[in-house]
Amino acid sequence: MTAVQSSAEDRGGELARKPRRRAFPGRLSLLMVYVPLVVAVHLGLIAAGLLGTSPQFNDLLTFASLVACGAVCIEATRRLGMPAGVGRDLLSAWWLPVALLLPPVYALLMPVPLQALLQFRVRRTLVYRRVLVASALGIAGACASTVFHLVVSDPLDGPPTWLVDAYPGIPAAVGCAALFAVANSALVAVAAHADNPEGRWRDVLWTRESLLLDVVELCVGMLVAITSAVTLGLLLLALPPVMLLQRSLMHQQLQAAARTDSKTGLLNAATWQREAGTELSRAQRTHDPLALLLIDIDHFKRVNDTHGHLVGDQVLVGVASTLCHQLRDYDVVGRFGGEEFVVLLPGTDTVEACRVAERLRGRVRRLAVPAEEGTVAVTVSVGVSLLRTHGEDLIELLASADLALYRAKSSGRDRVCLPALDGPPKASEA
Ligand code: GH3
Ligand code: MG
Ligand code: MG
Repeated sequence: MTAVQSSAEDRGGELARKPRRRAFPGRLSLLMVYVPLVVAVHLGLIAAGLLGTSPQFNDLLTFASLVACGAVCIEATRRLGMPAGVGRDLLSAWWLPVALLLPPVYALLMPVPLQALLQFRVRRTLVYRRVLVASALGIAGACASTVFHLVVSDPLDGPPTWLVDAYPGIPAAVGCAALFAVANSALVAVAAHADNPEGRWRDVLWTRESLLLDVVELCVGMLVAITSAVTLGLLLLALPPVMLLQRSLMHQQLQAAARTDSKTGLLNAATWQREAGTELSRAQRTHDPLALLLIDIDHFKRVNDTHGHLVGDQVLVGVASTLCHQLRDYDVVGRFGGEEFVVLLPGTDTVEACRVAERLRGRVRRLAVPAEEGTVAVTVSVGVSLLRTHGEDLIELLASADLALYRAKSSGRDRVCLPALDGPPKASEA
C-alpha cells in the first residue's frame, strides 16, 4: 500500500520518532521490565569495562576525535532540523570505528555523549526511549568490538598490518559491522514491538529501504575506521564527505516525512489526493473499476472525552495500522482529517469494495486499545463510492463517499453504505 511504512529509519529512530505516543499500562509492564534490563546490562558492562581497561593515550585521542566528528555531524543536523519521521543520521560512521579500533568499553561509552547531544540539541524525545537507544548502541558496539578484538588483538598498535594483510582483518571487520547492525536492530525492535504489538516484526526489523541504508552506513563506517587506523589526521578528510552524505540522506527523509501524517504514518491528505489522482487517471484510461472508501471513527469525541487525547491518538494509530495490514500494497491509504481515513481501491468493483469495507469494519471492531481502565474499542462507519457509477473524478467520488458516510452515520453507525443513487441502500444490509 502507499502508506509509508514505519521503519524507514534507524532502529534508534524507530522508537524515538513517536514522541506523541505514550506507552500504556499493558505495554508499560513489558517495557518497564525490558528497558531497565537493557540499561542495567549497559551500565554493568561500562563498570566492568572501566575496571578492566587501562586507558592508553592513543585510544583516548582516537575516541575523543571520533566523538568530536560525531558531535560536528549532530550540530550540522541541528541546523537542518530533524522532525518526527526523520531518524537516519549516519552516526554509525563514527560508532563503528570506535567499536573496531578501540577496546569494547569505548563502544559502550560512545553513545552516551552523542545521544545526550541529540536529545538536548536536536530533538527531545521521551527520555526512556533515548536511554534505550543509547544502551542498545553501546551493547551492540561492545559485542562487535569484543569479537573483532578476538581476531585482531590491538588494531591501533603500530602500523595497521591487519589492513595491509587484509585477511582475516577485513572480513572480520565486515562481519563485526554486520553484527553491530543486527544486535542494535534486535535490541531496539523488541522495545518497538512491545510499544506497538500490532506492528509487524518485519517492519520494525528490516525493510528493503532500511537494509540498504544499513549497508551504506556500515560501508561508510568501515571506510572511516580504515582511515583512522592509518592515521588519525585523515579524519579531517573523511568528515566533509560524511557530512555531505548525511545532508543528502536527511533531505531525502525530510521529503518522505512531508508526504506522511506523522501521527499514523499514513499518507497525508495532500499526498493522498495526488497519488489517488494518478490511480484514477490510470483507471479512466484503462476502463478498470475503482472504488473509494471514506472511513470515519464513530463517536470518537467520546473516546477523547472519556480517556483523554493520548488514548485517542493510540486509537488513531491502531485504526491506521489495521487498515494498512488489511489492504493490498497498491491500495492508497491516507488520513484525511482528525478521525477520518480515505482508501482508494484500484481494480475493485462494487461487490468487492463492499466486501473490503466490511472486512475493515470487522477488524476495527476487534481492536482493543489499552487505556488506564481496561481497553477501548471503537467502530467505524464507511461510505463507498465507485468510479463511473457515483462519480467521474476524485471530487465527485469523494462527495459521493461523503454522502454514503452520512447515510451510514444517520442510520445507526458501525456500518458500510453506498450513496443512495443505486445499488443496495446499505452495503451492510445487502
Ligand atoms: P461521529 O460518530 O458522528 O463521527 O462522531 P465523532 O465524535 O467521531 O465526530 P466529531 O466530529 O464530533 O469529533 C471528532 C473528534 O476527533 C473531535 C476532535 O477533538 C477529535 N480529533 C481530531 N483529530 C484528533 C487527533 O489527532 N487526536 C485525537 N486524540 N483526537 C482528534
Ligand atoms: Mg467520527
Ligand atoms: Mg469525522
